[in-house]
Amino acid sequence: MATPEITDAPAVERGVVHVRVHSRSKFRNASVVCFILSILFSGTPANAARAPKYILFLTADGFRTDYIEWYHPTNLEKLIAEGVRVVHARPIFPTVTTPNMTSLVTGSYPRTTGVACNSEYLKEEDRIIQSPRDNQAETIAETLHKAGWKTGAVNHFMLEHRGVDFYETAGYDNAEKTTDAILGQLDKQARFIGAIYGAADHAGHQAGPRSEQVKEAVLSIDKAVGRLLSELKLKGIYEQTLITFNADHGMSSFEDKAVSAVPAEALKRAGFRVATSQKQLTSDTQVVVLAAGVHLVYFRKVTDEERAKATKVLSEIEGAEVLGRKELDALGCHNNRSGDLIVSPLPGYTITGSGKTGGLHGRFAEENPILLLCGRGFIHGKVEKAQTIDIVPTLLYLVKIPPAKTVDGHVIKQAIAKRRLAESESE
Ligand SMILES: [Zn+2]
Repeated sequence: MATPEITDAPAVERGVVHVRVHSRSKFRNASVVCFILSILFSGTPANAARAPKYILFLTADGFRTDYIEWYHPTNLEKLIAEGVRVVHARPIFPTVTTPNMTSLVTGSYPRTTGVACNSEYLKEEDRIIQSPRDNQAETIAETLHKAGWKTGAVNHFMLEHRGVDFYETAGYDNAEKTTDAILGQLDKQARFIGAIYGAADHAGHQAGPRSEQVKEAVLSIDKAVGRLLSELKLKGIYEQTLITFNADHGMSSFEDKAVSAVPAEALKRAGFRVATSQKQLTSDTQVVVLAAGVHLVYFRKVTDEERAKATKVLSEIEGAEVLGRKELDALGCHNNRSGDLIVSPLPGYTITGSGKTGGLHGRFAEENPILLLCGRGFIHGKVEKAQTIDIVPTLLYLVKIPPAKTVDGHVIKQAIAKRRLAESESE
């Protein structure tokens, strides 16, 4: 009697056993496979049973990836050991919260979401708005909700009224309360939860990334995430859950050197009428400049000649570079709301606040957010590069739900186990 030879050692990938069987007896072979499948999936079609049933989309505001090596959050270190860490995760430019939180949960660039910065000058309405919420792209919660999932969000202001059955604000900076709220929504059968842990950003602004305050904030988030993971295990759903722990942007200390001129001041000195707030906006304002670590410059009422002059004035600022339309388009910025130009400090420079204690973000220097992916279907290891807008399509790929048409990101294939990629090619 031919005995099946198991040529590959069974590989355990988060609870699923894959066995490749080679045999001279096809009949015997098939019956062994059926037997294994029946044990594993108790009669459910293999693919449906294997797709993870839960997604936890955890975002820590301002959590730079080096905090792992600096502060050793042990629960996150365990998560890294069990999943994938993206070494260089590229967020949305400018590296500030509102556009990045929007892009994280949509998988789309600001040119698609319409959410370009924390405050924006809306040319069509001729006004400056704070904290824009008019996201034009589909959120991952909306996609999953349409597919029949129960969904929830905790502190995630870009998911409020955007495809969630449950929404709760639970102390942005209080990690334990955030975990409590997530667990409460799991008890209500939510299968997707998008949550924000906020403490690291506020501590970073106050004291800078290398500070006791940030260390405390990081460890408090770690403890709360650790408790969340333990609870998932107790509930018996850990093995069926995809977890991403990510950040909207990183954090830097203020630089010692200041750029040679603040953009709005340089323009005023050159004779332009400039507004930097809604209060200053008058009928004869020529240029609007908004600060967000970088400075967004919107031309309101200028001739071509004046535009060229203003661009020259800005490009003469030492310690900064001026990004024009072409560069901004290449970064996925919104073609209207991101400004006509962005003045961005070069490495080592700050526009305002140089030498100050504390921290800031907004520039290219803060393109260092954490990005972890963990769960059935992911490899254990690291991926060199990915964008934060790739998280949504990657998670949807593993739960076998097509991404919305508005998604600009791509599936991070290097993060996915080869057998899982092969399986979807054969479907
Ligand atoms: Zn911040």
